[in-house]
Amino acid sequence: MAAELKKLSESRDLTRIERIGAHSHIRGLGLDSTLEARAVSEGMVGQQPARKAAGLILQLIKEGKIAGRAVLLAGQPGTGKTAIAMGLAKSLGEETPFATLSGSELFSLEMSKTEALTQAFRRAIGVRIKEEAEIIEGEVVEITIERPVGAGAGGGGSSSAAAKTGKLTLKTTDMETVYELGGKMIEALSKVKVQSGDVITLDKASGKVTKLGRSIGRSRDYDAVGPHTKFVRCPDGELQKRKEVLHCVTLHEIDVINSRTQGFLALFTGDTGEIRAEVREQIDTKVAEWREEGKAEIVPGVLFIDEVHMLDIECFSFLNRALENEMAPILVIATNRGITTIRGTSYRSPHGIPADFLDRLLIISTQPYTEDEIHRIIEIRCDEEEVEMSKDSKVLLTKIGIETSLRYAIHLITAAALACQKRRGKVVEMEDISRVYSLFLDVKRSTQYLMEYQSQYMFSEVPGAADHEE
Ligand code: ATP
Repeated sequence: MAAELKKLSESRDLTRIERIGAHSHIRGLGLDSTLEARAVSEGMVGQQPARKAAGLILQLIKEGKIAGRAVLLAGQPGTGKTAIAMGLAKSLGEETPFATLSGSELFSLEMSKTEALTQAFRRAIGVRIKEEAEIIEGEVVEITIERPVGAGAGGGGSSSAAAKTGKLTLKTTDMETVYELGGKMIEALSKVKVQSGDVITLDKASGKVTKLGRSIGRSRDYDAVGPHTKFVRCPDGELQKRKEVLHCVTLHEIDVINSRTQGFLALFTGDTGEIRAEVREQIDTKVAEWREEGKAEIVPGVLFIDEVHMLDIECFSFLNRALENEMAPILVIATNRGITTIRGTSYRSPHGIPADFLDRLLIISTQPYTEDEIHRIIEIRCDEEEVEMSKDSKVLLTKIGIETSLRYAIHLITAAALACQKRRGKVVEMEDISRVYSLFLDVKRSTQYLMEYQSQYMFSEVPGAADHEE
């Protein structure tokens, strides 16, 4: 299985490729170091209280403090609930799993609702597996050595307390070099001004260290100690070779590898099917063993469920139970519904969510945007889609956004750019906006049209004959 896990973590990059989608302009939550939301930052505009609240959740996730909790993003359509969830995902860092699921997907997959939810939960739980590997000569590797900053400082090092950890990345193509250099490496490093995160190369012949990465920094007395050390100093002062490889996979990926004969490829085709409970039990036992032996760590991630009002009472009771599990991820759910029926019951409740589940939620609400904010979001989307648009057109599009919806206005950007291209124009003008505005109806105009011409459509309801069905 180790080889498959390796292949899997290598192919990870593929699945993380960014697409130009509705939220591709969102690069984070746009917060400053004190977690205050900047007015416009990282593709995010306005919605400051909600972004700030999401930032606090982010902090708690990073500190590992709120596993098994749930957060609800509630607000009108197009007020950035999904955008905030995406911003949260981008800020989490590569290693924290982020799984998404839309409430309606539960009813279209070829598996039971609870199986689909279980898979989603396990996609949001990461396992960081440590493995010791042999280094092949000539291989390009990065070595990360961590040491407590300030402990036994010297060399003008940091004056901060020993609690922090300094990180130094060493890049070399020849591992034997480092091995042979032994104590000399330490000597060489202490002469170079290196700072946490710097990338350096080591010359075999001279033992000279050259910096490749950023170069601001203070000279640091360097020593390789601590549990994360890839190269440790032996009692006799020699450096000992020890390369640790970390694979980050999700529990769901381990499940799939172990449940299908075609192994990890099933993950890419999406044809994972239902996974038997015994397989999951075996995996949980194995992972628990690895954790005890110090070979693996659990990384609780985030599961985002959009359109949560589509879930029925069975799903909510499943979620209630799943959140009690000690490995449970953070659940972030979103809905644009007000007081509505809980699916599978005849009861109504806020957002269509049962009261006992509502009770365990931290609720973040999103507010409608101002004219200025809509204008900024349109500008950002134009940049993202590489559409050049005149000032007047942006103002017109903003007005359309206020009258109709932000999402409709965003859709018109691409359409107007095509109209502009068709007339061989370079910059989108008012005429292009007007043209696509008349070609594509927004919800309000579409409803009005339907009211006028309802009788000419098939299956329109005939008054008094509503229950006339086969
Ligand atoms: P719904 O309830 O209909 O699912 P939503 O609240 O999830 O809507 P989004 O899909 O997040 O709304 O927003 C609609 C569009 O506007 C998306 O393209 C989104 O990226 C963009 N958007 C929304 N809010 C912001 C924001 N604060 N900053 C930048 N872009 C935003």
